[in-house]
Amino acid sequence: MLIPAGELRTESDQEHSNKLQHPEPGDQDDVRRAMLEIRRAAQSRHVDNICGAYNSLRRAMAGRKIRDLFDAVTAALGPTGMAIVVSSYSHRKCFMCDHGTVVCDQCDGKRRLPSGKICQTCEGLAVTPCTFCLGTGWADREIIPDEIRTVVVDKQFLHTRADLDKLINDNPEMAAGRAIQMPFMQRRSLVLWLMRLHARLSNIAQSGDPAAAQHQQELGKALDQIAAMQQTLSTAVDEKSDSTSAM
Ligand SMILES: [Zn+2]
Ligand SMILES: [Zn+2]
Repeated sequence: MLIPAGELRTESDQEHSNKLQHPEPGDQDDVRRAMLEIRRAAQSRHVDNICGAYNSLRRAMAGRKIRDLFDAVTAALGPTGMAIVVSSYSHRKCFMCDHGTVVCDQCDGKRRLPSGKICQTCEGLAVTPCTFCLGTGWADREIIPDEIRTVVVDKQFLHTRADLDKLINDNPEMAAGRAIQMPFMQRRSLVLWLMRLHARLSNIAQSGDPAAAQHQQELGKALDQIAAMQQTLSTAVDEKSDSTSAM
């Protein structure tokens, strides 16, 4: 993993810069406590706990070298310690939704309006993209600490690319433009899956992160693949959704 040079910065650094640059006795206790916390968090295998504990350790080590922080994580969790932290941040979920969507307000998730017409707001999908994460299902990227952000974004790209490959491999009939032959529920789950992948890749492409520049070509290609499949599916959903009442 690429380790950026420099010192750790937290928001409180500006206010307390003298103190943080000359740690007082007792700071080692904070570091030890934070190392214990991250070890417990890793044992819990809970993503939010691991990210929270990494932040505590980071705060306890403010003013120290980034290398020292990474060494402390390795000391607490073993050689894969930083990989665990990066993976946790890359999987952190939006707290407002489930996988990037929320129940449609207009039809209350029933797909149809009281008149019996297919809901135009969700186009009969029963859900709409979450306005908080814009459909990615990911936590806000701003919460990712600077020193690992690019590695996390890179990981998110690789996950999303692998997820798109899985979707293509598992659904050859759609890739071949025969989505119309699929049952409605299968088409619906693919529409939602593609919506999420599109939101994730767009989010990475627009992040301005060096990882986005590095994957620029692959991002463009993947977004084109998704757009083509969305085209195939939207036709299939439109044609069949009105005759399908089962959800
Ligand atoms: Zn609706
Ligand atoms: Zn969300």
